[in-house]
Amino acid sequence: MTFRTRFAPSPTGPLHLGHAYSALLAHDMAVRSGGVFLLRIEDIDRSRARAQWEAQITDDLHWLGVRWPAPVLRQSEQMARYEAALETLWACGLLYPCTCKRRDILAAASAPQEGVTFGPDGPVYPGTCRRRPTGPRPRDAALRLNMAAAVAGLEIAFDEEGPAHRGRIRVPAQALIDTVGDVVLARRDMGTSYHLSVVVDDAAQGITHVVRGEDLFEATQIHVVLQRLLGLPTPAYHHHGLIRDEAGKRLAKRDDARAIAAFRTEGATPADIRAMVGLAPSADHIGSAITRS
Ligand code: GLU
Ligand code: ZN
Repeated sequence: MTFRTRFAPSPTGPLHLGHAYSALLAHDMAVRSGGVFLLRIEDIDRSRARAQWEAQITDDLHWLGVRWPAPVLRQSEQMARYEAALETLWACGLLYPCTCKRRDILAAASAPQEGVTFGPDGPVYPGTCRRRPTGPRPRDAALRLNMAAAVAGLEIAFDEEGPAHRGRIRVPAQALIDTVGDVVLARRDMGTSYHLSVVVDDAAQGITHVVRGEDLFEATQIHVVLQRLLGLPTPAYHHHGLIRDEAGKRLAKRDDARAIAAFRTEGATPADIRAMVGLAPSADHIGSAITRS
């Protein structure tokens, strides 16, 4: 099976050192294994995505020596496929509408008898709307996954190749129910969600290896549940360490001082960026004249 990976930035800010590391690591792995590296633009959050950020990210990646074949998959153009996946899950009775506000969820979750557990998406949803009778699918509400119903009888496991959790990761159904809970799969304002879109797109792009930051490790169990429910293959995962600043703080997208564009303005070379994130110089694609233009 040909190694196929992707880099999936959200065009909501500049490409910073952490992104550059993720993209270069995935690209290096594809080049070394004679595989394929793809670009996906995760722009489902229309309130935050900007065309100029996408242009800047693309330009910075090219400058770094990262190359990908056309077409670039843009999530905003894939809504019909997310909708089809939601219809499938709805038809199985695994989704329910939720009209709770964030503050209602926090209040219910922190009621004395409940106790708050924090999952990958924040406080575990206390299940308020799950208990309501469901009619036809509404178009103006968020949709949540009924996790207990979803994981019944499923084996949730994936292969992890990253440094922190290497090996076969098995997630007990009860852990998903207790520590992840009924995640939102369609946001009211978006008609989809990060979890649903990433699963549909990894399958559509034939991804065999997902290379991404350690901050998404806890989200992966949700992605594997969705792959099982939708009959999609589970890729291997490589969650890499995060690039931190001198104080050990994770680099945020708004940390513009760490933006690749800022380093470029100061005269840094692609080789300098590789050295900064701890990657060996890569003669096969970084040394060529084109990447220095
Ligand atoms: N769009 C996500 C981000 O920028 C990455 C998602 C992924 O790699 O699965 O954090
Ligand atoms: Zn609700």
